Amino acid sequence: MSTSASSIKLRHLLGIEGLSPETISALLDVSETYIEQNRQIDKKQSLLRGRTIINLFFENSTRTRTSFELAGKRLGGDVINMQTSASSVKKGETLLDTAMTLNAMHPDLLVVRHPDSGAVQLLSQKVNCAVINGGDGSHEHPTQALLDALTIRRRRGKLQGLLVAICGDILHSRVARSNIHLLNTMGARVRVIGPPTLMPAEIDRLGVEVFTDMRKGLTGVDIVMMLRLQTERMHGSYVPSIPEYFRFFGLDNEKLSFAKPDALIMHPGPMNRGVEIDSEVADDIGRSVIHEQVEMGVAVRMACLEVLMSQRRNEPSGSVAEGGGE
Ligand code: ASP
Repeated sequence: MSTSASSIKLRHLLGIEGLSPETISALLDVSETYIEQNRQIDKKQSLLRGRTIINLFFENSTRTRTSFELAGKRLGGDVINMQTSASSVKKGETLLDTAMTLNAMHPDLLVVRHPDSGAVQLLSQKVNCAVINGGDGSHEHPTQALLDALTIRRRRGKLQGLLVAICGDILHSRVARSNIHLLNTMGARVRVIGPPTLMPAEIDRLGVEVFTDMRKGLTGVDIVMMLRLQTERMHGSYVPSIPEYFRFFGLDNEKLSFAKPDALIMHPGPMNRGVEIDSEVADDIGRSVIHEQVEMGVAVRMACLEVLMSQRRNEPSGSVAEGGGE
């Protein structure tokens, strides 16, 4: 069932929007091949020997940065982590100057996270290497949606026809946007649930059903994805108080009882217990797949690195063929 990585034509991975169902399925198929390898004592391959991957993170990260680092190293590549707090960005260098400086060192791939929506795409137009969006503002976080899809597909055997609820701070969430694009593309049905203050203005154009009542929105769903209140992107007050927010939108066993009895509980992390999710639900080993999501994250990132690097075989860096996101 393994799909050949080189058959997937992607120069960069900037978002899920615009990817075909075939490309998404193929990326998930390649990811599947890495799950077993990651469970072995010896996890290393030499597929990316000689390749340089730079993680360029202008925002905090635990899971994404670590899993890209592990992914690159397990495939035998050289991985460098750049934290902007320790770089010349703190001395006033612009995003593009930093990118061009790194570009001059001939990396093969940049993984970039930035607080501004669109910043990663802009950067991808200026450098010669492949670029993966590790999260740009509230726009997209493509590898998160792929790892979520892989987790669901392995548990449910499919994505098509499933009813998925994405709950909480939809407005500021790149995870929500990437998941909405992916799930719609793959034939799942998406509900978004949250207070009206945390719904984006363009929500009606995203092909989802909108609920402001958690119990109604959760009724009969197969999958419950919880989101953190992303206070770092909030200017002003969006919820009356944390206890009030938890009362109406925090996932606890009572609200969860409206979902299907075997509904899976997901969260991209970092979790804020007692804010958007109750500990009892988060730690329910029968239904919570939050740690499985993290495991799938490494496999998905290995697949993305393999796919993008396979387009660059035998090409000196700096002479990559032209081509868009897909
Ligand atoms: N880790 C995810 C992201 O970077 C979700 C979050 O931060 O709440 O978007």
